[in-house]
Amino acid sequence: MQKIGVFVCWCGSNIAATVDVSQVAAAAKEEPGVVFASDYAYMCSEAGQLMIQNAIREKGLTGIVICSCSPRMHEATFRKAAQAAGLNPYMVEIANIREQCSWIHKNKEEGTKKAILLAKAAIAKVHLNEPLTAGETPVTKRALVIGGGIAGIQTALDIADAGFEVDIVEKSPTIGGKMAQLDKTFPTLDCSACILTPKMVDAAAHEKIRLFTYSEVEKVKGFVGNFTVDIRKKARSILEEKCTGCGVCTTKCPSRKTGNEFNEGLDNRTAIYIPFAQAIPNIPTIDREACIHFKTGKCGLCQKTCGVGAIDFDQQDEIITRNYGAIVAATGFQTISLERFDEFQYSKSPDVITSLELERLMNAAGPTKGELVKPSNREHPKDMVFIQCVGSRGESCREKSYCSKICCMYTAKHAMMIRDKYPDINVHVFYIDVRTPGKNFDEFYRRAVEDYGVDYRKGMVGKVMEQKDGRLLVQASDLLNGQQLLLQTDMVVLATAIEPDKSARNLATMLTASMDTNDFFTEAHPKLRPVESPTAGVFLSGTCQGPKDIPETVAQAGAAAAKVIGLLCRDKLLNNPQVAQAKERLCSGCSNCSKVCPYGAIDYEEREVLDHGVRETRRLAMVNEAVCQGCGACTVACPSGAMDLKGFTVKQIMAEVDAICR
Ligand code: SF4
Ligand code: SF4
Repeated sequence: MQKIGVFVCWCGSNIAATVDVSQVAAAAKEEPGVVFASDYAYMCSEAGQLMIQNAIREKGLTGIVICSCSPRMHEATFRKAAQAAGLNPYMVEIANIREQCSWIHKNKEEGTKKAILLAKAAIAKVHLNEPLTAGETPVTKRALVIGGGIAGIQTALDIADAGFEVDIVEKSPTIGGKMAQLDKTFPTLDCSACILTPKMVDAAAHEKIRLFTYSEVEKVKGFVGNFTVDIRKKARSILEEKCTGCGVCTTKCPSRKTGNEFNEGLDNRTAIYIPFAQAIPNIPTIDREACIHFKTGKCGLCQKTCGVGAIDFDQQDEIITRNYGAIVAATGFQTISLERFDEFQYSKSPDVITSLELERLMNAAGPTKGELVKPSNREHPKDMVFIQCVGSRGESCREKSYCSKICCMYTAKHAMMIRDKYPDINVHVFYIDVRTPGKNFDEFYRRAVEDYGVDYRKGMVGKVMEQKDGRLLVQASDLLNGQQLLLQTDMVVLATAIEPDKSARNLATMLTASMDTNDFFTEAHPKLRPVESPTAGVFLSGTCQGPKDIPETVAQAGAAAAKVIGLLCRDKLLNNPQVAQAKERLCSGCSNCSKVCPYGAIDYEEREVLDHGVRETRRLAMVNEAVCQGCGACTVACPSGAMDLKGFTVKQIMAEVDAICR
């Protein structure tokens, strides 16, 4: 019989206010095998850990149960403390009496009853625990960053500067991301391209960084320290090693009707194109859907024009397989579709634009060379209305429930830039609240109101109507004055909600990383591990984790890089020993387990088995312990009950259920 110690934590008043901790300790003491039980204010504190270690040594404990917060919070802490006192760390069990008990119950009597049951279940389980030993696997000293926006570039630069190889995979033909489309950045109003392009150049020139642009991650296998990734390098129809980036081909291309993505469709581009002047790599890509040669077999003007023979119409996609120790998701954001926001006339009036379109209109390298004109007739507007929170902070199914976080500040920026360059334009902003919680952010917003005379109105816009004279009529409410307003205007700018890039969900599935209900990647812990995903070896950088501005993105990119460096610095990693194991005599080799294993940890082997005195060769499931993450999916999929998880065996789970039902 095990000699078990039970330690009940108060967690200050977090647990003790709803659970009678001394009653839990007293009830635990009555359980078979329990030789010590006590409660303490903070078990995770130094004094609490010392109490545990002393009891292990003095009472000769062979297993312990900590009744405390979630194992996600402090399991590692308690395992380390136990190990330091000579107890195998896998002889430690946590009964979660905080998140699963005190935080969700108000009635102390009921809370205490439930806490006692959870403690009893953990005691029953620890009776059946066996000491486990972690194995070791080597670490591949290279990182993969998925996404080549500012988040991905900064993460890659920081990792590379520490001396590790990094690959950046970017799905579009150039790195730079959304930041490359911006004109100026808040709250300093410095030129976005001026601060971004040197970083793009640094990334391209860094000897430790390899860029895969116009490429996508197609398959991810493996586990922390040892990922194997297939990258699809899409055919640009250009021989990169030959192309000099002269751009002559793009001037000759007769196919000129495709919306220019970089300018948000405000002008057109050719079928062979370089996204923008500072694109990296600065070579063209042929858009095969728009190319006359690919559609009809004719044209080929670019090929005839290219002096170095760099056009290759027969180029095929290439699959490149690379190994990595760590992966960083930096897939960024996109703005939501405005299809379901017809009240603002976005799809009908060219003079209703998004904020990102305004960025391009205001940019000297944009479709109007920085001239602010109405897209409908190229005349200067006299009045402009900005509508905040379009699709953000809503309750209906067409809206996002969250705040997109950047819109208040970029609208203040736009308003200031317009009033600065065109003082004759009247600028009105309709808002729900103005949110400016950042360094110098509130001062920036106040400058827009006080120094630039921007007319901020607290209120909602009901609808925008097109009028016969081409102007727009905005119907809105002014909540502070309790008035209904009808405002004539020339242009309307929508601060459209942001959402994760559409590639994020597929990537999360490949990485077995979790996402929230809005498809943002979730962190391992929102406060203590904000740049790690719950999947070991997968890290998060930038807006793929949640809305954020550029300074926050860069800070998070640095933090993700620091975590990756910490991992790549190690030569070996300890494996989780709580892995699946197939019982030879029960396994029928049906393959059900390998079909459900998200990590590809199960293979099959022909093996000789002695079953009831009969020796025969059978097809058996074999678990690769280095790859298995102990998720347990296979144990429930196995129809013959052959798969079991060390540390979470069927016997242990049933013992817990029995203890609760007793
Ligand atoms: S493909 Fe040829 S023509 Fe086009 S940019 Fe490259 S070198 Fe110049
Ligand atoms: S527990 Fe089973 S399904 Fe889960 S990773 Fe291990 S082998 Fe795969």
